[in-house]
Amino acid sequence: MNTDISPPQATMVAPHILLVNHFKALKLPTFAREYEKVGADCAREGVDYPRYLLRLCELERLDRERRTMERRIRQAKFPATKSFDTFDFLAMPTLNKSLVLELARCEWIDKRENIIALGPSGVGKTHIALALGLAACQKGYSVAFTGAASLVHELMEARDERRLRALQRQLANVKLLIVDELGYVPFSAVGAELLFEVLSRRYEQGATLVTSNLPFDEWTSVLGSERLTGALLDRLTHHVHILEMNGESYRLATSKKRQKMNAKSNAQREKGEPGSENTDATS
Ligand code: ADP
Ligand code: MG
Repeated sequence: MNTDISPPQATMVAPHILLVNHFKALKLPTFAREYEKVGADCAREGVDYPRYLLRLCELERLDRERRTMERRIRQAKFPATKSFDTFDFLAMPTLNKSLVLELARCEWIDKRENIIALGPSGVGKTHIALALGLAACQKGYSVAFTGAASLVHELMEARDERRLRALQRQLANVKLLIVDELGYVPFSAVGAELLFEVLSRRYEQGATLVTSNLPFDEWTSVLGSERLTGALLDRLTHHVHILEMNGESYRLATSKKRQKMNAKSNAQREKGEPGSENTDATS
């Protein structure tokens, strides 16, 4: 882009081309996109120049905040987008709803505390972790989401390729690190040590959220050493909010419900009853 427009040349170029050029150079894309439309609106409404500029500045800032938030969400590498709007708290009565909604305000991240969500498969641990991660991005915190097994894999790969330090630094600097599904895959001794290093570096330095299908007394089965598990739990649970999620798998419950609805509507259809064409089980 040519940003060097000297005065004699400038006088020959249509002002709107120059303006768009300046806006781009000044990194004001919303000004470039909106200045004509907002100008026309302001002329029609009799709005003065300072207020015209004010409107443009406000639009630019809103747009910039939205773009930054979208970038944070992309950088977090969430495997899916989940929010509290789609979480049915009634289906998970052991989960403390008011605590979760309080945590969604993200003060725990400022205080560099931790969250551990515990419960069997399918009860919504990942959903809650994703929703808390999204809330953190929306509030301006940097987030990294990773599965425990893939984090260990990545750490081992980085170590082999002599870029472990850089990865460790990256994992230490993020405001919220989410480690999902600790417990399904046991780690090698080196893998467990690398994970321990990452998590203990974050102790009182950054917020960490871990989800696990295993109660604490079974963590040794994935981490191997009792000494290392003890040291890790000691750090993780010093400032921690525990989310107990015990109950039936939501996946299982919804598929059972769907089967029941289908069976009911099949029976109605056989009897020729009205309403038997509705087989929607998700509502
Ligand atoms: P977990 O991580 O505990 O194995 P997930 O969070 O992956 O469970 O949940 C499995 C599926 O069920 C996901 O699609 C999730 O969005 C959904 N789900 C689980 N619990 C709930 C709930 N209480 N309300 C709405 N959807 C839920
Ligand atoms: Mg999960």
